[in-house]
Amino acid sequence: MKPDLFQAPDYYNIDELLTDEHLLVRDAAREWVKREVSPIIEEYAQKAEFPKQIIGGLAEIGAFGPYIPVEYGGAGLDQISYGLIMQEIERGDSGVRSTASVQSSLVMYPIWKYGNEEQRQKYLPKLASGEWMGSFGLTEPDHGSNPAGMTTNFKDMGDHYLLNGAKMWISNAPFCQVAVVWAKSEEGRIHGLIVERGMEGFTTPETHNKWSLRASSTGELIFDNVKVPKENLLPNKSGLGAPLGCLDSARYGIAWGAIGAAMDCYDTALRYSKERMQFGKPIGQFQLQQKKLAEMITEITKAQLLAWRLGVMKENGTATTAQISMAKRNNVDMAINVAREARQMLGGMGITGEYSIMRHSMNLESVITYEGTHDIHLLITGLDITGLNAFK
Ligand SMILES: Cc1cc2nc3c(=O)[nH]c(=O)nc-3n(C[C@H](O)[C@H](O)[C@H](O)COP(=O)(O)OP(=O)(O)OC[C@H]3O[C@@H](n4cnc5c(N)ncnc54)[C@H](O)[C@@H]3O)c2cc1C
Repeated sequence: MKPDLFQAPDYYNIDELLTDEHLLVRDAAREWVKREVSPIIEEYAQKAEFPKQIIGGLAEIGAFGPYIPVEYGGAGLDQISYGLIMQEIERGDSGVRSTASVQSSLVMYPIWKYGNEEQRQKYLPKLASGEWMGSFGLTEPDHGSNPAGMTTNFKDMGDHYLLNGAKMWISNAPFCQVAVVWAKSEEGRIHGLIVERGMEGFTTPETHNKWSLRASSTGELIFDNVKVPKENLLPNKSGLGAPLGCLDSARYGIAWGAIGAAMDCYDTALRYSKERMQFGKPIGQFQLQQKKLAEMITEITKAQLLAWRLGVMKENGTATTAQISMAKRNNVDMAINVAREARQMLGGMGITGEYSIMRHSMNLESVITYEGTHDIHLLITGLDITGLNAFK
């Protein structure tokens, strides 16, 4: 792969909206990605393996629990810092950002928000340091966009719960030490349970043959009469709103992350357009190529402003699920379109691993699907503005 010459675009001086702390956090993550992710990521994506050696570095830049309080091992940062870290990591690779998102927003967040003090003390510091990695089991083979239909269930056996069922498409599953699993009680209510590797009957087979998020490890969570201690139930929230609350936090991070992938594609295409000569001119001098670049930077800038404003609202506690949904949908769609146009600008070179664009492009196919598909997010906005529910 070519050396990482990334220069971040900032067409509207959005850095002026950021605090010194935001810039410090962002620049530290940016440097770390250049040093530790860019040189190895193509190789790991090609061999379809998560680079476990970067776990310690991810913890150091605050990527595991950026907004979780310091007393639990988190970085104690605000929501915009969280977003900026996700942006920088996804600039390197969406798969690496997925690992960090799951750890922070889908594993640490529910333990912090819905867990009791013993659970926080037991799990959060180890998850923040990367000593333990976590996964989040919501999706099932027959229930993706409609998680309310889940069939994974647990029975109260007096001194423990007995968990049965299967989850599919679970990021980090093959190597996680803990899984936050959503399952129905005998009364049909959804609860979160913390399942630990080593519990009898709990297995995590890896999913192979992915063309997307190849540097992220995906698998199943299978529960065959797993005895889960009663103290592993998250006591402070139940019902579908509990997992959906986690998704709000993760989708917010994705809205920022997708900007990173788009920035990398744009920056690569811009540099290439000045170097690649055809018909005796740099291709960047042709109007059709300039149109592509002009549209890319316009869309990136709009997405940056959307994410920043959402970050302000998230920080002051007013961001709604529908507002977060809109930013996830818009920014991922924007990034896919930027990646597609950028890939074309590189001609044949665009399909090779010499450049990051094709990898981003393939990765974004998962990002537009997970945490609510593009269509589902359109329906969330539709419901919000009309008051009419298309899901029923
Ligand atoms: C790489 C990867 C990693 C993932 N990681 C995780 C994870 O860590 N944890 C986890 O729990 N899940 C994870 N997922 C699962 C992901 O969230 C689901 O794939 C997603 O929710 C879609 O579900 P589905 O694949 O079953 O598609 P389906 O729900 O079957 O949807 C198929 C199509 O039908 C459309 N559709 C569905 N319902 C409607 C409707 N009412 N109206 C209009 N169109 C509709 C969808 O938009 C989609 O286009 C991951 C997925 C991938 C690909």
